[in-house]
Amino acid sequence: MKRLEKQIALVTGGGSGIGKAACKLFASEGAKVAVVDIDFQKASETAEEIHQAGGEACSIKTDVSSKGDVIRMMDRLRETYGDLDILFNNAGTILPGTIEEINENDWDRLININLTSMFLCIKYAIAGLKKTKGKIINMGSMNGLVGQQQNPAYSATKGAIIALTRSLAIDFAPYNVRVNAICPAGVITPLLADWFNRQPDPAQMQRDSDFSHMLGRTASSEEVAQLALYLASSESSFITGQAIPIEGGATLGYGAGP
Ligand code: NAD
Repeated sequence: MKRLEKQIALVTGGGSGIGKAACKLFASEGAKVAVVDIDFQKASETAEEIHQAGGEACSIKTDVSSKGDVIRMMDRLRETYGDLDILFNNAGTILPGTIEEINENDWDRLININLTSMFLCIKYAIAGLKKTKGKIINMGSMNGLVGQQQNPAYSATKGAIIALTRSLAIDFAPYNVRVNAICPAGVITPLLADWFNRQPDPAQMQRDSDFSHMLGRTASSEEVAQLALYLASSESSFITGQAIPIEGGATLGYGAGP
């Protein structure tokens, strides 16, 4: 028996990085997966890779910060597969810079993509999730647990996601809907590469990042997807409201790694 047999899963940001790895892993464990991304080409590529591996998936173009898009996405999902069992709110972006450097429009855009998207996706999926006793997994970050220099806006969204997760876990516990957050440190994805490339010396930044993790490296998308799978499966049936770090020891203290 596969771990997500007959489950219906929706993964936002499924066209790249952690979301893509989660879509493929969920499908390999028997889930029917809706791959959601603002970039339809990338979402379709993920769905195609799942089909080629013998799994079941559809791709849906959605800007998760748009109410209209999210409502259409949930309608499409219900028509295609039925009520949702697993909602992985993974899509997100970065806004590096000090508070003096970032402007109000970029701040609003970041809040909309990283945080309002979760409000919308949960609000318009929760009726179905209550019926299925579903699982919600929200993508937080180590930045929601500790601070980071020149990254206050992103950190604020991730801290809010953790607080949202805890409160929703309380509200939905009577329905047996579990809500958890994942808090990775560095994960090798296009998003992290983008962050490094904005620095004066990207290669040095990569080395510094590796050493800030006690295990001496950043994570792969697949390693983080394994935590999402655990939270999506019945193996985590008594875990709710938690913000679970997956950070290679990065929050343990000072040290240069092995
Ligand atoms: P990524 O850039 O590889 O993938 C993000 C995907 O989200 C892309 O396919 C992008 O098109 C999609 N997306 C962006 N805005 C969207 C929108 N408005 N609507 C729909 N889709 C949208 O990034 P990743 O590193 O895989 O990041 C995924 C999540 O993990 C993010 O929430 C990020 O904050 C979080 N995270 C990443 C790291 C890391 O080091 N990479 C660490 C901690 C947390």
